[in-house]
Amino acid sequence: MKSLKELTRPNIWSLAPYSSARNEYSGHVAHVFLDANENPYNAPYNRYPDPLQLEVKERLSAIKGVPADCIFLGNGSDEAIDLVYRCFCEPGKDNVVAICPTYGMYEVCADINNVEYRSVMLDEQYQVSADKLLAAADANTKAIWICSPNNPTGNNINREEIIKVIESFDGFVIVDEAYIDFSSEPTILRQLAQYPNLIVLHTMSKAWGSAAIRMGMAFAQKDVIDIFNKVKYPYNVNLLTQEQALKRLNDTISVEQWVNILKLERGRLMKAFAELPICEKVYPTDANFFLAKMTDAQGIYDYLVNEGIIVRNRTRITLCHNCLRVTIGTKEENSELLGALRFYKA
Ligand SMILES: *Cc1c(COP(=O)(O)O)cnc(C)c1O
Repeated sequence: MKSLKELTRPNIWSLAPYSSARNEYSGHVAHVFLDANENPYNAPYNRYPDPLQLEVKERLSAIKGVPADCIFLGNGSDEAIDLVYRCFCEPGKDNVVAICPTYGMYEVCADINNVEYRSVMLDEQYQVSADKLLAAADANTKAIWICSPNNPTGNNINREEIIKVIESFDGFVIVDEAYIDFSSEPTILRQLAQYPNLIVLHTMSKAWGSAAIRMGMAFAQKDVIDIFNKVKYPYNVNLLTQEQALKRLNDTISVEQWVNILKLERGRLMKAFAELPICEKVYPTDANFFLAKMTDAQGIYDYLVNEGIIVRNRTRITLCHNCLRVTIGTKEENSELLGALRFYKA
């Protein structure tokens, strides 16, 4: 791996970050706070929130088995994705490599930051070899994006290939595990301490049932997290979000129950899809959605919209011709979808 200094944009490496009132004072004994121009009324929302969200991170640390100072929290994973570009990729010069098809935000953020985005096509099994990814990289490649389980294909990317990329590539490898709670494979987080170029993304938007609060996380070694922290907005995660996140993190039982039900429903729905005459193939999945190749994705999509049921039409995505992406809903929602599909006439 290149040194962190070589991988970081020079202006970011030498950046003197904004120092907030909350940064400058962090003792425990004070009880009169006249330092941040806040209104003394309307507690607790009158006060600026903890810029480093330490209470949430302590809880996450226990759940994920990662030290608190190796965790970055952001306004969804999307903030961490954007920060990878802003911290490490020089616009107009550096590039990144990613599998294709995959989550759209990697490319949108690359475009916004004027960073070249190199796509490496998955094979028919929606897999990729480490060699193919590495071959797409050059001296200006700062990051390789791997989403596993992958969106929209649903499958895990082979772990041995991911490890090979991490061990062979001299820049960052970001493994986006947004759907890891639904996967049969363990998280790659256990290897975080071993690899200084590994960044892992998790989110509260999927299994944790909290897409509305916007809480995403990046895990990496402390010196990488320190760079994210210096570039992020000082108060990037608001107090309402921190409160709701803590509440959710203190009720892991519910999450386990949701995941178990969703995995059972996933099995039921996929089996039923496979038996539909209008379904040509159901792709294996490790996420809370699956991809299904239909006889006429557009026609079926339009029909379902008319019935008030929305799935994702992926027919125009590379390697996903005539595919619908179906998120697993409640038992009742899934049954309604199946009922509607059984009545579909081309
Ligand atoms: C849904 C999803 C996310 C979550 O993004 P948030 O900004 O945290 O809501 C991240 N990565 C992938 C691949 C996703 O599908």
